[in-house]
Amino acid sequence: MERPCAWKKYTPQQVEELEGLCRGYKQFLSENKTERLCVKTGIKMAEEAGYVDLETVIAEGRTLKAGDKVYAANHGKDLMLVNLGTAPLEQGFNILGAHVDSPRLDLKQNPAFEAGDMAYLDTHYYGGVKSYHWVASPLALVGVICKKDGTTVDINIGDKADDPVFTISDLLIHLSSEQMAKPAKDAVDAEILDVIVGGRPVKFDEDDKDASKEPVKQMFLDILKEQYGVEEEDFLSAEIEVVPAGPARDMGLDRSMILGYGHDDRVCAYPSMLAQINVANVERTSITLIVDKEEIGSVGATGMTSRFFENTVAEIMTLAGEDSPLALRRALAHSRMLSSDVSAGFDPGYAGKFETKNAAFMGRGLCFNKYTGSRGKGGSNDADAEYVALIRDIMDKAGVDFQTCELGRVNAGGGGTIAYIMAKYGMNVIDSGVAVLSMHALWEVANKADIYEAYRGYKAFLERA
Ligand code: MN
Ligand code: MN
Repeated sequence: MERPCAWKKYTPQQVEELEGLCRGYKQFLSENKTERLCVKTGIKMAEEAGYVDLETVIAEGRTLKAGDKVYAANHGKDLMLVNLGTAPLEQGFNILGAHVDSPRLDLKQNPAFEAGDMAYLDTHYYGGVKSYHWVASPLALVGVICKKDGTTVDINIGDKADDPVFTISDLLIHLSSEQMAKPAKDAVDAEILDVIVGGRPVKFDEDDKDASKEPVKQMFLDILKEQYGVEEEDFLSAEIEVVPAGPARDMGLDRSMILGYGHDDRVCAYPSMLAQINVANVERTSITLIVDKEEIGSVGATGMTSRFFENTVAEIMTLAGEDSPLALRRALAHSRMLSSDVSAGFDPGYAGKFETKNAAFMGRGLCFNKYTGSRGKGGSNDADAEYVALIRDIMDKAGVDFQTCELGRVNAGGGGTIAYIMAKYGMNVIDSGVAVLSMHALWEVANKADIYEAYRGYKAFLERA
């Protein structure tokens, strides 16, 4: 029961629509390399589509009714878009969920040092990364520095055409006999993932007793002070992410794919937000949930395990006049969700890690994983067969190409998503998403047809589930 390649069915008009969607996506991916920026841009997209900040609705004492569109942000790192339907909220929502944090290197709180006449910033990796990926490649610094006076300085260096970039050096092959004999996980020690940020000292008088002992680091700090008005101490309260420098680009001579940083999971988040704002009138209330911290276990105030979603639903139901605690519980239990995250695309070079009847193939459409997990489905949300049947019916009726898949061969490894967290409310949840190659590498690959089918599938789900 092989699924067809989605490209085969497209009319010239559909290819044009696909390219339009992917142009928007490439720009989104290139310009939003942190969860904060993804949320900021998501808010802009929502406001342009007529969504109103929930805080404003609350402050102005307004009520909510069918057709109203609101958004709520959480710490600038989560976003929830809500389009109120005509059906009572108690009957549940159609929910799209995806995460916008991506694997990366974060600057440590006390990052700056000088060694070998170069200035460095020390990092601590975030999420599942192979350390050896991060050396000898152009890098950008993106994030915020929060000052004691309450102001925030945005940092975004390395992506504009005339920006400088940064890098982490690798040992030259000529001296690598010991390194090359190590297992890949030990080839590059994560503690030496230090970013080179300077190579020129400040000028000082040789006799000056007060001269900086670290003149190259001093030059770096002086420039930082001059251009951004921040001191070394301000790194204590900063969130700066070291990410690959450069834009997402078309890949392949046929331009069928996109090579970009952070497909995991912005390749699901962007089409989800777009589907949400492009579906104007709904019967069941539609919600798109964009969350942070998935890559480190969905923890913290901005991870899926926080109460942000539940609290926001309570606010909205109260404003819509359905304010009993029981109505809230019923709404959550009666909801349906597509928990979207990237899937492992079949990679012929590593064919032995997949079981082809149940693998995601690049270009065969939106992926559905009934279950994920590892060691016997451990930690997975196993979607009900009844719910899978409903999803199949929706996708077939809307003519969306989809494929069912698992994350690799049984016992090859595994992984989790946010699905099981939402399933705790008793709602129907299924893992879905877009297949990628080189997941968690600096540059991941996605097929445009899969992005297009994901968008079409999300739209069909919001309209018909
Ligand atoms: Mn993911
Ligand atoms: Mn991931």
